[in-house]
Amino acid sequence: MYLKRLEIQGFKSFADKIEMQYENGITGVVGPNGSGKSNISDSIRWVLGEQSPKSLRGSKMEDVIFAGTASRRPVGMAEVSITLDNASRKMPIDYGEITITRRVYRSGESEYYLNKSACRLKDIRELLMDTGIGKEGYSIIGQGKIDEILSSKAEDRRLIFEEAAGIIKYKTRRDEAEKK
Ligand code: ATP
Ligand code: MG
Repeated sequence: MYLKRLEIQGFKSFADKIEMQYENGITGVVGPNGSGKSNISDSIRWVLGEQSPKSLRGSKMEDVIFAGTASRRPVGMAEVSITLDNASRKMPIDYGEITITRRVYRSGESEYYLNKSACRLKDIRELLMDTGIGKEGYSIIGQGKIDEILSSKAEDRRLIFEEAAGIIKYKTRRDEAEKK
């Protein structure tokens, strides 16, 4: 399972639609300060359901929408699509690749799509659970994350191992069943 494609439009500094294809291997992104490298990783975090503007380096969710420059008007919508290879069927869905899309308007509401069909964030969370991808996954290691892991409480650290071991979905189902 790997990141195959990323499409960004109207998100942060990416006013125009851009598409990046990735191979199964290591990709480095290089560029001058302020050119948008971190905005790419922010877009990945965001499309996977990040709800905290602060962890996207903003103060409100609207800050992810291209705000305009001296020569360019702001846009009204941000959209990011991520395509993940699923040849191994690690995600429990019978497609060789899946595309997750998130869209947000200035009014605030987010829309999510799985392979172009509207869905809930919950559906995306369930699909990604135990894959290591996703908001709580260990596939995105940001600055300071290692320190956080080493200094966190034992119970918090345990969550990372549980995700890696693939048992989070069973715990979540148990918790949901107990609530009912
Ligand atoms: P560094 O090497 O310093 O880490 P970087 O390549 O990671 O830089 P980013 O932090 O990804 O750079 O990009 C910052 C740029 O994105 C800034 O110029 C900022 O103005 C622009 N930017 C962020 N949010 C928006 C927005 N909503 N609309 C327009 N531009 C934005
Ligand atoms: Mg950066």
